[in-house]
Amino acid sequence: MKRALITGITGQDGYFLSKLLLSKGYEVSGIIRRNSSMHQGTLEKLDPKERKQIKIYYGDITDNNFIVSTIEKIKPDEIYHLAAQSFVGYSFENPTFTYHNNIMGTLNVLNAVKEKSKNTKLYFAATSELFGKVANAPQNEETPFMPNSPYAISKLAGYWTAKSYREAYNLFFCNGILFNHESEVRGPEFVTRKISMKVAKINNRDNEPLILGNLNSRKDWGYAKDFVEGMHLMLQQEKPDDFVLATGEQHTVREFVEEAFKCIDKEIIWEGEGVNEIGKEKDNNKILVKVSKEFFRPIEAENFLGDYSKAKRVLGWKPKTKFKDLVKIMVENDINEPKNNE
Ligand code: NAP
Repeated sequence: MKRALITGITGQDGYFLSKLLLSKGYEVSGIIRRNSSMHQGTLEKLDPKERKQIKIYYGDITDNNFIVSTIEKIKPDEIYHLAAQSFVGYSFENPTFTYHNNIMGTLNVLNAVKEKSKNTKLYFAATSELFGKVANAPQNEETPFMPNSPYAISKLAGYWTAKSYREAYNLFFCNGILFNHESEVRGPEFVTRKISMKVAKINNRDNEPLILGNLNSRKDWGYAKDFVEGMHLMLQQEKPDDFVLATGEQHTVREFVEEAFKCIDKEIIWEGEGVNEIGKEKDNNKILVKVSKEFFRPIEAENFLGDYSKAKRVLGWKPKTKFKDLVKIMVENDINEPKNNE
């Protein structure tokens, strides 16, 4: 039985990856930060039978002793290093924490493999945010990086550390340069989930509008369930390498909003410009969407479009879920969430 260790198991990708690896017969272990309420994040959404099979190690990736002893104890065949402060907006507010958590945490994990478990294959969760302010689209593995947030800079350090350790010490380390991937277990602060949750509440007679930042930001949004399959495939290859995973389709935040409201039979018409723009319900002119400066990033990165042809050619991976279906999955899930119906 193959052993896998997932850092960041309580997050969105941890949820889908746990399900995938368990379905493939892996022995799955996960690292969880202890909190006083003992919440286990998205793990609480797993089927109880699945959850029982996961071995939990309580600790923090920034605690080097803990990481070294855990990796030495498990000697996993595969590590999926997903743990990170992953919210770009928060990284502008707390760059020191983001750098410390993401860079030192990653260094601890990579060093522990190098020192204690050289045969472990490792996946590092890099990101399309590395491309940042890039002018050219689409972006692939050859596109120069121009990170423009503390989050992206912290991930660039992890990317280069994984790449240089692979070359210097002959380790099986892969970087997944993943474009945005969303789902029904996406954190509520991320724009897609913020939209799907609010639309579900409006469907249940919430009268307050949805308030957003840059409606024209262009993203390449896929479904997290499809993307974790790509992570797994990277570690099943003969040789370690870096891969872009994306959908190859670009949509604006505005389109996501329109599609989400369509799921509850509301058509949006837009009026005004910039921070004065509003989205009204076509049938009755009720304001459903407003814009606020508060949700703009200090520097906008707004032209994300991924070229996943290398992953398709080498891994045989491609995204399965279309944009409209993704929006529908999220809105329908949130309509059925009891907390959105209170
Ligand atoms: P997420 O939902 O924010 O999950 C992050 C996970 O990391 C959580 O389990 C969190 O634990 C854990 N974590 C953070 N700091 C930690 C620490 N010091 N020690 C232990 N655990 C820690 O992120 P995600 O969407 O699943 O993404 C997974 C990874 O892929 C992240 O590294 C993210 O940056 C990267 N990525 C994501 C996307 C995307 O669109 N989703 C795209 C590209 C790259 P708590 O529950 O305790 O907070």
